[in-house]
Amino acid sequence: MTSAVEVVTIGDELLLGYTIDSNAAHLARTLGESGIRVARRATCGDDAGDIAAAVREALDRTGAVITTGGLGPTSDDKTKESIATIFGRAMRLDDAVWERLQAMWKERGWPGEIPISNKQQAMIPDGATILTNRHGSAPGIWLEDDRGRWVAMLPGVPREMRGMLADTLLPRLVARVNTATVVRSRTLRTTGIGESALHDLFGDAARGVEGLPLAYLPGWEGTDLRLTVHGVPADEADRALDAAAAVIRTLAGHYVYGEGTTDLADVVLADLRTRQWTIAVAESCTGGMLGMRLTAIPGSSDVVLGGVIAYDNRLKRELLGVNADDLAAHGAVSEPVVRAMAKGVRALTGADVGIGITGIAGPGGATPDKPVGIVWLSVETPLGAHAVTARLVGDRGEIRQRAAQGALNLLRRQLSP
Ligand code: ATP
Repeated sequence: MTSAVEVVTIGDELLLGYTIDSNAAHLARTLGESGIRVARRATCGDDAGDIAAAVREALDRTGAVITTGGLGPTSDDKTKESIATIFGRAMRLDDAVWERLQAMWKERGWPGEIPISNKQQAMIPDGATILTNRHGSAPGIWLEDDRGRWVAMLPGVPREMRGMLADTLLPRLVARVNTATVVRSRTLRTTGIGESALHDLFGDAARGVEGLPLAYLPGWEGTDLRLTVHGVPADEADRALDAAAAVIRTLAGHYVYGEGTTDLADVVLADLRTRQWTIAVAESCTGGMLGMRLTAIPGSSDVVLGGVIAYDNRLKRELLGVNADDLAAHGAVSEPVVRAMAKGVRALTGADVGIGITGIAGPGGATPDKPVGIVWLSVETPLGAHAVTARLVGDRGEIRQRAAQGALNLLRRQLSP
């Protein structure tokens, strides 16, 4: 069997644009890492004829097809029947699947009897192999003809699709296909520096390192740098990525805070935990986003004490001890105020570390000397106090997210200068 497959994602909502096709992207990335190339992908609606046409074409070209969606219990779920027709197979009730569905209904403590429409999920094409779904109700299905051409049908719900791919389908494919070469990538996460500044900093390495292309992926968390290697054996790919990542780390220096999907909040909390320090936050324009970032990390309760959303100046004065004269003289978005917020929340909570955020998230509220996007961020720790200002870009939501990320980065830099 060759190492190429085609992907057909199924669902009217994908064509209408209400659902973004993250399943196709996840399949391509995950299969590529194991040396299985997605040669082509297509999307079709819930119409039985369209599904059959898309899958038939893919089977004729590549002989290896993965579909997602349309395995549910409702009348718009037509995937199985359409594909069974292509293979000339009848549908039959699979007793084991039906029993498992009934048992699952009871185990979950759902009221009454399982709806009869769920029986549809236990209808399986003759001669199909069931791909067990530990993450939901609809089983996946593997259908193969006597020429070795196959279709693997996965559910549409992304969490179920990913689980089934990892548990069942990927091991099955890796065992069958020739996976001599792979596509692998490595992402280094940077923050506190723009895409073009990084590009300039890298000089000759700006477009690629050690022969590997470098992609710049800017977002509100910072700029991710992705290195990719194609078409080489897995161990060679890993060696090339290690070497190129080391070069990028040296060039980007302290701007790099992690790899892959690392969250800056996690990095900062890990450092605080090692020092046995606690943290509290004083937020104005971010309205609790920094607190949310920190408490989203599992196990954060041993480090995070809490915080104050001091949106109104009265709360800044009364809860955080911000000086009324400073507020009057410099305004709420100013260095003395943000420093007082970090100091105040530290005093209020007894935390080792205080963070302050104040700014103008827009679209209103700007003044001639304080435009939309201006923020002041501060940290106060046993090592000292520090405040910075920045002019952030984006809409209100982005400015708030960038401000919370900037505050985390200020603390990271204070902890490891
Ligand atoms: P269910 O058992 O829930 O009926 P299903 O296999 O029939 O699962 P669909 O009904 O096609 O799947 O989709 C279920 C949900 O999964 C959709 O509402 C949609 O939000 C999401 N989904 C479907 N396909 C994709 C896709 N390609 N990318 C991202 N999300 C998707």
